Amino acid sequence: MSRPSDLMRAEVLERSAYVVADATGLIKLDAMENPFPWPGELEAAWLEALRGVELNRYPDPGGRAVTAAIRTAHGLPESAGCLLGNGSDEIIQILITAVQGSGRPVLAPVPTFVMYEVLARAAGVPFVGVPLAPDFDLDAPAMLRALEEHRPALLFLAFPNNPTGRLYDPGLVEELVAANPGVTVIDEAYAPFASRSFLSRAGSPVGLMVMRTLSKMGLAGLRLGYLAASPDWIDALERLRLPYNVNSLTQRSVLFALEHGGVLERQAQLLREQRSRVSAALASLPGVRRVIPSQANFLLFQVPPAQGRRVFESLRASGVLIKDVGHSGGLLADHLRVTVGAPEENDAFLEALSEALRALV
Ligand SMILES: *Cc1c(COP(=O)(O)O)cnc(C)c1O
Repeated sequence: MSRPSDLMRAEVLERSAYVVADATGLIKLDAMENPFPWPGELEAAWLEALRGVELNRYPDPGGRAVTAAIRTAHGLPESAGCLLGNGSDEIIQILITAVQGSGRPVLAPVPTFVMYEVLARAAGVPFVGVPLAPDFDLDAPAMLRALEEHRPALLFLAFPNNPTGRLYDPGLVEELVAANPGVTVIDEAYAPFASRSFLSRAGSPVGLMVMRTLSKMGLAGLRLGYLAASPDWIDALERLRLPYNVNSLTQRSVLFALEHGGVLERQAQLLREQRSRVSAALASLPGVRRVIPSQANFLLFQVPPAQGRRVFESLRASGVLIKDVGHSGGLLADHLRVTVGAPEENDAFLEALSEALRALV
């Protein structure tokens, strides 16, 4: 009988499965979720909308109605094609599978969203991480050198970046797109919270793609992401997409949510206001070394040397779950990431943090 080690690559077996912290009973500020439920009358209308869904039938394989609604709601360029994914995670996987035989790597500035590297390694595609500058901005000369040296098949740019929240200079992003011999995927997971977007440019030039998700804007449970790219690329990638990757309940719910898009937009506005407030409050706390300017719905901040884990644990003991991103050291050493929540959740976080930091001295 075969064991996993007989048949699976060591590179995959050495990794642990993606761990999601248990948030039972805690204020959940670890995963960039929108904290607001829908108002009651909207929830009732949504449940009503789900009544018509025929669960005995397969979903619309192409998600045509959803694609059309997204095109209008988000203003995709006419000339671009659109691919739907079971979250943008699945789109990253499709993209990496597409270039698997090219012999060329996946490249991204690091630290960044971990799935680019995780999914590249799972597919046996080399991953090249180019360190960001100490302020978490792009190191332009290093990026340009790496593009020339490695000629990646895919360059992933999270715009804004996770876990830092920084929005790179759009002029520099343009420069990287022009210098990249492969495809550049601009990952706009945090678009509702950011001041700039490349969506209108998706597909021109042909190697420029823009990926988005509905997760961070308030529909994380539905799992829907999309890729806007040149029709040529979308046609090619469609060959790798599983036929029914977006289920019927998700398709119907997304249509409903986009019909009521104003609710999500108002929630995003409130979160942007809360981001300013929490950011200023963090910066004024003794013991917070720096707060990275964020264009996303989370904030990255630095605590005194070697105290990240202790502060994280202390917050959890006070009932607030955030994310300790500093454990692997490097640029992120002593950094913690907190999702911007509802006003009262943010108050609880700030109070617990100020107590945790006071206890350090
Ligand atoms: C959260 C996140 C995603 C994943 O989104 P899903 O659509 O929920 O899979 C993609 N990219 C970045 C940068 C993220 O932070």
